[in-house]
Amino acid sequence: MPELQQSRLFLRCSRYGNYVALDSNCLFCKIISGDIPAQIVFRNENAVAFNDIDPQAPTHVLIVPTLHVENAAALAKASPTLTADLFLAAGEIAATNGLTGYRTVFNTGAEAGQSVFHAHLHLLGGRGLAWPPG
Ligand code: AMP
Ligand code: ZN
Repeated sequence: MPELQQSRLFLRCSRYGNYVALDSNCLFCKIISGDIPAQIVFRNENAVAFNDIDPQAPTHVLIVPTLHVENAAALAKASPTLTADLFLAAGEIAATNGLTGYRTVFNTGAEAGQSVFHAHLHLLGGRGLAWPPG
């Protein structure tokens, strides 16, 4: 796919200073590069979004930065702009899916349920969402 090739070129540019753009051992980095397939629903220079393989709601999308960092706090430290871009992507994806309400979640640490240590924003919607979460 041309856009995946573009992404590889972009990532090779390493425009994030001291940060390594991709980690060859990381599942989500491999999805970003196209080495592992996923149902991509959104892509721009800073964020890639794809359907969660084990959806917890009719819409369950993972939005990841095109930069390998472990969690949301590390992402905010690396780039507030990149962090904001994930939420802008969430808004666009929600609108595309006709969602009037949705939930965005970052899990941080195994105790909170984080299982992939590349920062990712869950976007959940399309059903009633209880509060507090489990
Ligand atoms: P978390 O538990 O917050 O780290 O979220 C990781 C998410 O990644 C889970 O919701 C998984 O279902 C999802 N996931 C794991 N492997 C894949 C994959 N290959 N493609 C799409 N989603 C995945
Ligand atoms: Zn990664």
